[in-house]
Amino acid sequence: MTIVAHLIGGKTDAPAGSRTADIVNPATGDVAGQVALASRATVEEAIAAAEAAFPAWRATPPAKRARVMYRFKQLLEENADRICALITAEHGKVLDDAFGELTRGIENVEYACGVPELLKGEFSKNVGPAIDSWSEFQPLGVVAGITPFNFPAMVPLWMYPIAIACGNTFVLKPSERDPSSALYIAQLALEAGLPPGVLNVVNGDKEAVDTLLTDPRVQGVSFVGSTPIAEYVYSTASTHGKRVQALGGAKNHAIVMPDADLDNAVSALMGAAYGSCGERCMAISVVVAVGDEVADRLKDKLSAALRDLKVGAGTSAGCEMGPLVTRAHYEKVKAYVDQGVAEGAELVVDGRGLVVPGHENGNFLGGCLFDRVTPDMTIYREEIFGPVLCLVRVKSMQEGMDLIDAHEYGNGTCLFTRDGEAARYFSDMIKVGMVGINVPLPVPVAYHSFGGWKRSLFGDLSAYGPDGVRFYTRRKTVTQRWPTGGVREGAQFAFPSMK
Ligand code: NAD
Repeated sequence: MTIVAHLIGGKTDAPAGSRTADIVNPATGDVAGQVALASRATVEEAIAAAEAAFPAWRATPPAKRARVMYRFKQLLEENADRICALITAEHGKVLDDAFGELTRGIENVEYACGVPELLKGEFSKNVGPAIDSWSEFQPLGVVAGITPFNFPAMVPLWMYPIAIACGNTFVLKPSERDPSSALYIAQLALEAGLPPGVLNVVNGDKEAVDTLLTDPRVQGVSFVGSTPIAEYVYSTASTHGKRVQALGGAKNHAIVMPDADLDNAVSALMGAAYGSCGERCMAISVVVAVGDEVADRLKDKLSAALRDLKVGAGTSAGCEMGPLVTRAHYEKVKAYVDQGVAEGAELVVDGRGLVVPGHENGNFLGGCLFDRVTPDMTIYREEIFGPVLCLVRVKSMQEGMDLIDAHEYGNGTCLFTRDGEAARYFSDMIKVGMVGINVPLPVPVAYHSFGGWKRSLFGDLSAYGPDGVRFYTRRKTVTQRWPTGGVREGAQFAFPSMK
C-alpha cells in the first residue's frame, strides 16, 4: 500500500515504525493508501534541515529565487492533470473545481515571481546632513505552514512561494486527510531548483503541529483551519515568541435585496453554497432575504435548482458536487441537518438519504435548504462546512447587516442588488474582511491579500499578496552617515533632530 511520506532535506521517505493513518477515497469509501504521521523527532529533523538551508538561501539574490518560481509555475502547469487527479481522489471535489483551486494557487507563484520588486524597500537620502536612511525587509528564518483539508493544493501555495521567495526556509504540515497533492507539488518545487532543505514537508497530526508551534528555531507560523484550532495555534505559537497568522472558520452571509436580479443571485448562490460540497471557508451558508416576497421566490428557485444539482464522484463527467471529505465529517454535517429540523427550521430540500448508484459507500449528502432559520438556532450560529444553505428572512438591509455584524465570524459576505448607494453603504460599513457586490465568493486575487475579521483571523496580517510579504519579512531600518571633509562634531546630548 502507498505510504505518503515526508520531504526532509530533499529526500522523501517515511521513517520505519512511524505512526500512520488511512487515506480514504471519499467517493468510494476505499482505503487508498496511508499517510505517515511524523513524530516530534521527525519534525525536528525537518526544522534542522530548514535551519541549515537558511544562510545560503537568504544570501541568494532575489532575482535568482524568482527564477526558481518561474520554473515552478511552469512545472505546476505541465503537471496540472496529475495534481488535480490527486486532489479529487482524496478530497472528493469535482475535477473542474480542483483545476480552479490549482489555478488560484499558481497565481500566488506568479506573484512570488515579482519578489525583486516586492523587496525593494524604502530609501531616504539626506534625512540629516550626509545621513541616509533606508528600510529593508529581511526574511524571518525558518517558518512553518499548517494547512486544512479543503484546499490541499491552494492553501500551501498561499504560503510557501512568497515565504521562500522572500528568503525564508519552510516546513509545511498539510492536512493528513488529503496529503498527496501537497507533497507532490513540493517535489515539483524542488525539481524547479529549490536547494534541499529550503522547502520541507512533514505529514502528521497534533504531535507534528505542536512541535512546530513550540520549537525555538521556528520564527513564524501561518495556519489555516477551523477557529478552535486557529485560536490554539495563535496562542501557543505567540507564547513561544513566534510571529503568527491563524486563519479560521466562517459563516458567510449573502443579502438579497428586492431589486436584485434574482436569477443571477440564485445561480451565484448555488455555486457558492454547494460548490465543493460547501467545504469552502468562503462558501455562502446563509442567505438573507429582504422581505417575504424575495424569500418566497428564492425558496422556490433554489429548490428547483437543487433538484437539478448533479451529485456524484468528482471524476464523473458533468458532476457538479462530490462527496464530503470523510465519513466522520458526513456524520457531523448530517447531525446538523437533524438538529436544524429539531430546532424548528423548515427543511425545504432534504439531501439526507441520497445514494449515488455505484458509490454506495461514498460520503454523499445531497444539497439541503432550510427556510425560516433564526439566529438562535445551532445551524445558524455554527459553521457546518457542508452542502447546507440557511434562508433567513429580514425586513430591511440594515436588519441583515446587523445580523452579519453580530455573528462571531467575519470572513466573507456578499450583497445582491442593483442599487449602487446600498452597495456602497454595505461595503463601507459591514464588519467583514472580504466583501462581494453581486460576487458571491469574493476571494481576493493573489496581488491583494486574504483575511477575515473577528474570529475568522487571529493575528495582524492577512495571507498572501502584500500582507504575505510583510508577514514573512522583518523590517530593518538602517541610518548611515559618511561625513565628508572629516567634519567632527563634539558629543551631543540633546536628542538628534533637524533644527
Ligand atoms: P482543522 O482545524 O481540523 O485542521 C487544520 C490543520 O490543523 C490540519 O493540518 C490539522 O492536521 C491540524 N490540526 C487539527 N487538529 C489539531 C489539533 N488538535 N492540534 C493541532 N493541530 C491540529 O481544519 P480542517 O477541517 O482541515 O479545515 C476546515 C476548516 O478550515 C474550516 O473551519 C474552514 O472554514 C477553515 N478554513 C479557513 C480558511 C480561511 O482562509 N479562513 C481557508 C480554508 C479553510
